[in-house]
Amino acid sequence: MKNVKCGRCVKCGREYEAVPNLTNCECGGILDIIYDYDYIKTTLTKEKLAARDDRSMWRYRELLPVEETTPNTPLRVGWSPLYEADRLAKELGIAKLWVKDDGQNPTASLKDRASAMAVAKAQEAGAKVIACSSTGNAASSLAGNAAAAGLKTYIFVPSRAPKGKVAQLMTFGATVVSVQGSYEDTFELSKQAIDKWGWYNRNAAINPYLSEGKKTVGLEIMEQLNWEVPDYIAISVGDGCTIAGLWKGLKDLYAIGFIDKLPRLISAQAEGCCPLNRAIANNEDWYPMEENTLADSIAVGVPRNADKALMAIRESNGIVVNVSDEEIMAAQKLLGRTCGVFGEPAGVTGTAGIKKLCEQGKLPKDAKIVSVVTGNGLKDVANAIKACGEPISIPSDMDLLLKAFAEKGICIEEAE
Ligand SMILES: *Cc1c(COP(=O)(O)O)cnc(C)c1O
Ligand SMILES: [Zn+2]
Repeated sequence: MKNVKCGRCVKCGREYEAVPNLTNCECGGILDIIYDYDYIKTTLTKEKLAARDDRSMWRYRELLPVEETTPNTPLRVGWSPLYEADRLAKELGIAKLWVKDDGQNPTASLKDRASAMAVAKAQEAGAKVIACSSTGNAASSLAGNAAAAGLKTYIFVPSRAPKGKVAQLMTFGATVVSVQGSYEDTFELSKQAIDKWGWYNRNAAINPYLSEGKKTVGLEIMEQLNWEVPDYIAISVGDGCTIAGLWKGLKDLYAIGFIDKLPRLISAQAEGCCPLNRAIANNEDWYPMEENTLADSIAVGVPRNADKALMAIRESNGIVVNVSDEEIMAAQKLLGRTCGVFGEPAGVTGTAGIKKLCEQGKLPKDAKIVSVVTGNGLKDVANAIKACGEPISIPSDMDLLLKAFAEKGICIEEAE
């Protein structure tokens, strides 16, 4: 890889050759992939990008840690739409808001970006089997992307994982272990199994290439905004890989001169599980917290990528905001009603955070904000119905329809 220099430990600075099965530093620290930006500048220009047909995360190959000969993974991952959310912006009293709907990835979450990268690197390593533990989306995205590439998967998920995600896993032909315990317990068991059988490891914050896949969400946002940097980008945070990846992508673009400043990050967590935001707010180290939220994808009491995530939030002069489950459900409904975008609870937590910060007057009135919706609501319909309610249920009878409308106080618009 001519564009990559090495993997460097974020804790002790030790450097490693960027081999495909790179994991943590000897000291336990997480590695960051270091690029040769001078070289990349000679190979990539905005014009070259604009002329490119590839509508997937692989359009940014010059900025990705893969060999030139490594094939693009088969599923179309990335290049999700960035919508102008004018109606929602107006309701919130924001000057400009965009919604990046990453629930439109092939397995319906942002995790596809990391999993596609894991599959590419596993193929470089000559591996036939990949394993991971996950709150659900990393698992289903790995199972799907691996199935498309002809690789086998062993997946560990906590038993609370929503049915939609488990259905995906079973459909993609993974061997699935539903662990009766927390995400932490699940992670532990997967670690022991991976050590025993030597599978390619897609565990968050162990494999340093994953956040390089995730960073493509930041690259896309900027290209879709024609390189005009917004004031804030809001995103939900669990393990911290996503926000760290987003930040990495933005910094890459800054390093190669594609953007001339950096946005501030808004880190949104659930009130019932916010160890990283608590660390920022109290300016202290993080320590474990209960996993007490319906937003299962960010119910992470022991964040695996705390170092990179905290660094990203601090470096960006970021804002932290914690939202209750009620606020998450309200955001789910609001986003659906005003934008036609259906997010899972963790998917809309960033939007819930923006709404809360607006209500608290903590964002300037002229702010330009991007809200990343990280996962699709169809993964967890039970919570969507809980948030948005049941439909009118009646037999096929016009009188009963009139009665139901009257009872519900529904005001009926007639066509002109
Ligand atoms: C994984 C996930 C997140 C958070 O990503 P982390 O890397 O764990 O911080 C947010 N939303 C959804 C839908 C996810 O699946
Ligand atoms: Zn180290």
